[in-house]
Amino acid sequence: MPGTQDISRATLAVTSLASGSSGNALLVRSRNAAILVDCGVPLRTIERALMRSGLSPDQLSAILITHEHGDHTMSAGPLARRYGVPLIANQATLAAMEHDLTGATVRELATGTATMIADIHVGSFPVSHDAAEPVGYTMSVDGWCVGIATDLGRWDDVVVNGLTPADLVVIEANHDQERLWRAPYAGVVKQRIYSPTGHLDNVAAGRLLARLGTDGRRRSAWLAHLSQEANSPQIAEQVVRGVLALAGVRCVSVTALPRRTPMHWSSDMHGEQLALFD
Ligand SMILES: [Zn+2]
Ligand SMILES: [Zn+2]
Repeated sequence: MPGTQDISRATLAVTSLASGSSGNALLVRSRNAAILVDCGVPLRTIERALMRSGLSPDQLSAILITHEHGDHTMSAGPLARRYGVPLIANQATLAAMEHDLTGATVRELATGTATMIADIHVGSFPVSHDAAEPVGYTMSVDGWCVGIATDLGRWDDVVVNGLTPADLVVIEANHDQERLWRAPYAGVVKQRIYSPTGHLDNVAAGRLLARLGTDGRRRSAWLAHLSQEANSPQIAEQVVRGVLALAGVRCVSVTALPRRTPMHWSSDMHGEQLALFD
């Protein structure tokens, strides 16, 4: 679905601007709001990416942060400061980013609570990762919902419940386990990635989507945060689709996110696809 279609008038529109350990940024738009989820790329890169998406940085309603790791926060503070955009995260994450937030407007969103940002309902839920207090988010408008859970070493019922309302699920599929052990990382790094507070592998991501798919609802899934050395878009899609097929789940369409090429989803496109199956 990469391309230039005009999704700016959709009820809910999502654009992946960057995905992977070299930087993450996701733009979520409604008719009245634009929220950037994470900002882990250089300031010039995010400014250009937003402009290419038809948005001036000062039109952002908020910057939401999942956790303080650099691949999610690199230019979050500078962007918030330069354009007067409020930065929102839980207290522990804000504290961990404190050195970078001088002069920025910050707002706390306690984990497990929700708030309105213009017409977008934003909720957060805890995930298991080696950061201060990492979270996933759901963002909903008029019955449409995107759910995001990247950077988590394992998933549980809290994550499943958090993502259940989502029509678009953005879920980490970080690595292929065999490739991880062959990858040119130090042993301690591999152990960290593999651990329950590290990163989800393709099979675990597939199982999470299969669990979500037991309700039979048609969803789109984006596989995010793919490792460059220990995964590829082809392998991630193949493994996740295989897990879904084995589980007999046919209602989830799966796409691996490229690292920098924008990827679009909108509730209008999703609605049209749903109509084809009715
Ligand atoms: Zn990350
Ligand atoms: Zn992380």
